[in-house]
This record gives sequence, structure tokens and C-alpha cells, in this order.
Amino acid sequence: MAKILVVEDNATNRKLALLLLRKAGHTVLEAVDADSGIACARAERPDLILMDIQLPDLDGLSATRLLKADPATQCCPVIALTAFAMRGDEERVRAAGCDGYIAKPIEYRHFLATVAEALAGTTAAGRP
Ligand code: MN
Repeated sequence: MAKILVVEDNATNRKLALLLLRKAGHTVLEAVDADSGIACARAERPDLILMDIQLPDLDGLSATRLLKADPATQCCPVIALTAFAMRGDEERVRAAGCDGYIAKPIEYRHFLATVAEALAGTTAAGRP
């Protein structure tokens, strides 16, 4: 099972993500803004980060760029949580360094399948 960091300012979405991930057996860390999310990622080195794009301080894409530019956190896969899945969105998310994205509202099966795929990718890459 994995250690997963959820960075999401919306309490309803955060609680739902935590519930689903815990039910799937994962250890979950949570942050409500980019600053605390980045600090948590540096301290905890999670196996996966779920990053909301719209956060109260720094936006999630800028936060992802910082994480991917930092040797301490650049191996950690980041899945963007986006409320606006539109044409061009995936390219924007990938350009920021995200490894994938999940559109909100969260759909249980798709959410868990995307998380499992991202974690399988990290295992295959042989992360320590
Ligand atoms: Mn948000």
C-alpha cells in the first residue's frame, strides 16, 4: 500500500478523496494549500500526490512545477485534480509536469483506477 498526499482546499472533495484512498488501504496525508502541500511532500516523500489545480495560494500547476524542479520531490508522480476538463487541459497539465489528471466531480471507479495506474508506474520505475 502507498503513502499518498492529497492537496485540495475544498473540504468535500478532500474528504471524499481521503475516504476512497483509505478504503483502498493507503496511508493518506492531506494539505489544504500549495505551501503546506509542498512542505509535506518534501518532508514525507509520498508515493503519489493528488494536486488540486485551483488552490487559495499558489495554483496547483505552479506548485507541481516547483515539485518537479526540486531533486527531493521530482520523482514523485503528481496527478492533477481539475474541475474543468476541457480541450487543451490535459496538455496544460502535462506541460506543468503532472503525470496525469482526474476530472472533478470525482467518479469513484475512475479515481481509484487512475491512482492504481500511477502507483503501478512508480513501482515499475523502481523508486526506492
Ligand atoms: Mn480548489
